[in-house]
Amino acid sequence: MAEVIFNKLEKVYSNGFKAVHGIDLSIADGEFMVIVGPSGCAKSTTLRMLAGLETISGGEIRIGDKIVNNLAPKERGIAMVFQNYALYPHMTVRENLAFGLKLSKLPKQQIAQQVQEAAQILELEDLLDRLPRQLSGGQAQRVAVGRAIVKKPDVFLFDEPLSNLDAKLRASMRIRISDLHKQLKKSGKPATTVYVTHDQTEAMTMGDRICVMKLGHIMQVDTPDNLYHYPQNKFVAGFIGAPEMNIRSSRLVEDAGQLCITVGEEKMPLDERLKEKVAAWKEQEVFFGIRPEFVHLSDTPFAHGSCSGEIMRVENMGHEFFIYLHVAGYELTARLPSDQAKAMIEKGLHRTVYFRFDMDKCHIFDAQTELNVSL
Ligand code: ADP
Repeated sequence: MAEVIFNKLEKVYSNGFKAVHGIDLSIADGEFMVIVGPSGCAKSTTLRMLAGLETISGGEIRIGDKIVNNLAPKERGIAMVFQNYALYPHMTVRENLAFGLKLSKLPKQQIAQQVQEAAQILELEDLLDRLPRQLSGGQAQRVAVGRAIVKKPDVFLFDEPLSNLDAKLRASMRIRISDLHKQLKKSGKPATTVYVTHDQTEAMTMGDRICVMKLGHIMQVDTPDNLYHYPQNKFVAGFIGAPEMNIRSSRLVEDAGQLCITVGEEKMPLDERLKEKVAAWKEQEVFFGIRPEFVHLSDTPFAHGSCSGEIMRVENMGHEFFIYLHVAGYELTARLPSDQAKAMIEKGLHRTVYFRFDMDKCHIFDAQTELNVSL
């Protein structure tokens, strides 16, 4: 049993820079938690404090029933996989896998068995006698994961483990690591996993839950689905999702008895759902957010709440297109199935088209606090 708990965890570096601002996080036993955020948000610092590679300036870290603040890394029941796989170049795969176990003076037979088990799980059996330089990047990273598995840790820590791999390998390693986690869970030996990445696709596809960080603060901890559909603030709304949510300054105004948001000079009525929720923001500046898949385009005006813009550029993703419009001084992204998109763009770019939003899917953020007030 190894839940991981951060309690008011803080990090101040020796130059006085406060990297982590008293964060609270509970990771359940056997849970796969992804910590994600842009470069510099302190995800590595947080993971390194959990690993015992970095001192803690305040608060506490618990693994299972132990406070581990002052424990050495090897006493924490953890195993860590790094971005640069750091295999020993002069050792074979087998020796690399066995190295940590030899240090802990396990009997030879047990070491051989644990190495064999890990090799089987990660399909490394045919590579056991190779040297690291005889491995591809993906194979080397599998050995690095294998080195963590043989230790049978309570907690797996991953620090951007796939960043050095090409896109295709990243995709297959994502699946492999997720499968490994499920396999351990099924076998009754769940390993709590904390996985750090700046890549939101990795976060969305791998995490049971995701912790989104910004500048040493936690912005939201939630399931991938909830982060996508119910972002609690403007930062999470903009960070999760590709292409990004359209977010722009707007104003809530009343027009002919209806609550509307302004789009340039025009007004679009909000749906009933929001009427009471955002009433207090009437006549105020807000941020309005709408995901690109909820923007609809047409050559002719829509019946209600239709505005116009100019098609500036198009990205063809094969099964869908991203269409970028110029609207009242900002860019608006629409995401369309390819047949609809082709019909729109075959008449050429730089012409005026009309758009409307699925207003029941929009988000309104307070201009000062940036909190989502439409949930
Ligand atoms: P991330 O992993 O999210 O990219 P880091 O945890 O590496 O972020 O860094 C978080 C912040 O702490 C950054 O602003 C970084 O410049 C700063 N930082 C990291 N290491 C040190 C250090 N040894 N001394 C001072 N500041 C540091």
